[in-house]
Amino acid sequence: MTGSVVVAGLGPGAQELITPEVSAALALATDIVGYAPYVARVAERDGLQRHASDNREELDRAGFALRLATEGRHVVIVSSGDPGVFAMAAALFEAIEAGDPSWRELDIRVLPGISAMFATAARIGAPLGHDFCAINLSDNLKPWETVEKRLRAAAEADFVIALYNPISKARPWQLGRAFELLRSIHPASVPVIFATAISDPRERIDVAPLGEAVPQRADMRTLVMIGSSQTRIIPRSSGADFVYTPRFSGAVS
Ligand code: SAH
Repeated sequence: MTGSVVVAGLGPGAQELITPEVSAALALATDIVGYAPYVARVAERDGLQRHASDNREELDRAGFALRLATEGRHVVIVSSGDPGVFAMAAALFEAIEAGDPSWRELDIRVLPGISAMFATAARIGAPLGHDFCAINLSDNLKPWETVEKRLRAAAEADFVIALYNPISKARPWQLGRAFELLRSIHPASVPVIFATAISDPRERIDVAPLGEAVPQRADMRTLVMIGSSQTRIIPRSSGADFVYTPRFSGAVS
């Protein structure tokens, strides 16, 4: 019997934001593998084994999933958001490339999910309406100098920047340093969106000008989005302002 490995995105949190394709894969799975809080989002049922692991064991987790599949199991590796964005899909292919040659012949599929930057953008308006980029602020897997170089280049090129993993107990100063660097390039008025736990009951979304943005507002479930020089705020009397970036920029020939 041939097994399979599906790596699936569970979206930002809400059940309604899980795609029907991912729900169908979860319903057919024999095993769920992933970081404990994501595995906990898949309901228990007869015939389903849930294997929760620590956040830092991504390669081991991928190898474990592949070995289960060679035994004929139908494994779903779960990620939050989209599995291809700073998540398990790349770890799976890294394990496949370096691992047993038989692994690459398995039935392997990646099922997309709604990434935090898209859930955030939809909540507040259309900040990603023009060119944008996504940067993982964590320096666990790359040197901090690389992060700074990319932040500087992105701000100088006037991209809207979605910052994932902005802060954690082990990385307390990086976001403050990122704001300082961006303030040396952008006007202080550029809007910064702090979006925490989007689509969850504890969702919170605030906008501050770059000149007043403070890292204390962010936690591990916050996506920080820094506007470009063109990003605009539409104030509303409720205080729930819209933020958008026009689709055009400069002279168009
Ligand atoms: N694969 C995920 C990202 C994993 S990295 C995706 O595509 O969304 C984890 C980071 O994602 C967090 O530190 C935070 O920056 C962001 N994030 C995940 N879920 C979020 C949510 N519901 N609201 C805001 N940010 C979220």
